[in-house]
Amino acid sequence: MRVDPKRQRARMVRELEARGIHDPAVLAALGQVPRHLFVQEALRARAYEDTALPIGYGQTISQPSTVARMTMLLETFPGCRVLEIGTGSGYQTAVLAALGCVVLTIECVRELYLQTRGLLQSLALRDVHTLLGDGTLGLPDAAPYDRIIVTAGGPVVPQPLLRQLDDGGILLIPVGTKPRNQRLLRLERRGDIIEKTDLGPAAFVDLVGNHGW
Ligand code: SAH
Repeated sequence: MRVDPKRQRARMVRELEARGIHDPAVLAALGQVPRHLFVQEALRARAYEDTALPIGYGQTISQPSTVARMTMLLETFPGCRVLEIGTGSGYQTAVLAALGCVVLTIECVRELYLQTRGLLQSLALRDVHTLLGDGTLGLPDAAPYDRIIVTAGGPVVPQPLLRQLDDGGILLIPVGTKPRNQRLLRLERRGDIIEKTDLGPAAFVDLVGNHGW
């Protein structure tokens, strides 16, 4: 059966709306990014199901409703500078780019970094910069950031990320003492004060590295 990505995407957006995602800009971004290009060819028919899918190297592309929710909670605005930790498939990166963000994204698995860098380049996304390295250290050279989003879960909030957050900036990160069992935390910098909010349970793959597992 031939599948029409555009129609499948429109249906995915309707389902997300039914599941409580109401932000029109976020829905428009998810309606625009070709998710089928971010999954392995053999899984393309399932690209617009609300499910996480394997992308190799023991990693997964997050499910659309998770990406939508994270993006909504990140409260981006056009031109905002976002540091993303855990590029993975690059799907969340592309959604942020569709919202007009300047995205610097770090991946620690070399093969995934190379593969996704190629894909993002082929899509000719503006203002996306891919980097290879340990994202728990952040990227001090280009700091501060308006927003920092971590799409893998570790045992603590990496202090370098908090230091690289601009005044009024927001850090979203899943944190938990057990793998795949975290709380999604929102940390907002107000001068020297960090306001922390627990946004509920989350189940992301492991954040590794210096301040990870
Ligand atoms: N947003 C991605 C989710 C990928 S899964 C998507 O939609 O596809 C999380 C990714 O984080 C994995 O690719 C994993 O390799 C990466 N990761 C884990 N720890 C990391 C670290 N310390 N620095 C950079 N990337 C990391």
